[in-house]
Amino acid sequence: MCKNSCWICNGSNIKKVKQGIEKEISPNDFNITDDRYGTTLAIYRCLDCKFEFCPETIDLTNMYENMEDDSYLETSQSRSIQAKKIAKYCHKFIKKDSKILDIGCGSGLLVKEFELLNYDSYGLEPSNFLADKGIENNLKIYQGTLDDKNYSNEFDFISLVDVIEHVQNPLDLLVKINRALHEDGSFLVITPRRDSFFRLILGFKWWHYRIAHVGYFSKTNLLQIMKNAGFEIIEYKYATWFLPLDYILNRLIKYLPFIKFRFNFKKEISLPINLFDSSMIIAKKVKNL
Ligand SMILES: [Zn+2]
Repeated sequence: MCKNSCWICNGSNIKKVKQGIEKEISPNDFNITDDRYGTTLAIYRCLDCKFEFCPETIDLTNMYENMEDDSYLETSQSRSIQAKKIAKYCHKFIKKDSKILDIGCGSGLLVKEFELLNYDSYGLEPSNFLADKGIENNLKIYQGTLDDKNYSNEFDFISLVDVIEHVQNPLDLLVKINRALHEDGSFLVITPRRDSFFRLILGFKWWHYRIAHVGYFSKTNLLQIMKNAGFEIIEYKYATWFLPLDYILNRLIKYLPFIKFRFNFKKEISLPINLFDSSMIIAKKVKNL
């Protein structure tokens, strides 16, 4: 991966703005529920478009294939509520009988929700552990990434929820999504928003600064890369997350290190959270690439 050019604007005005973690990294560093906020790979900033990214060469595919995250499964009740809301939102933009693909589908919660809405619903997931959980539940999930598939004109709708910030070739991923979609196909993207209030206040302590995140998109960055990949934006919103109350409280007290106490509620109580730091876009394919 070239350290000298920006993944969004291709500019070469790049500056290292944050040191990376020093120890050798392993698949567990990539757990979805990793809460060591502010621990990242070395971050570079494009001085032209302000995009922040981690160009250090690591075998991300291998990391995700071997990731096992039990605490992700433990929060699946809240994540199901989340998936239901996302599917319902997308439903407005999807034609009847559509064929849908959720990329980076985890254990398949969104795949299942699309199936419940009577779509022909598929998922792709690199982690063997998570893909197997979905397959055990009779969902149509393939273990792997878009690089393993040669989809062309295959799907009416694709969703990419909290995935694009994990890849070192976001434009390449979006171009493959463009090709996998039908002529009039559409597409959902959700990703943390770098030019948000909490990022401004917390700096590199912001909760989305994590080892697994290698691209940090402002709204402008995201709109630009979508346009470059042949998409037109239909709607821009902020995503609402549903998380267990004890998960939220335990993450909040990470910012108050003098508190040693940890919450552990028996029953999962879920709360909607919208901190306006997660971009949610519906886009339409307007150009064949
Ligand atoms: Zn740039």
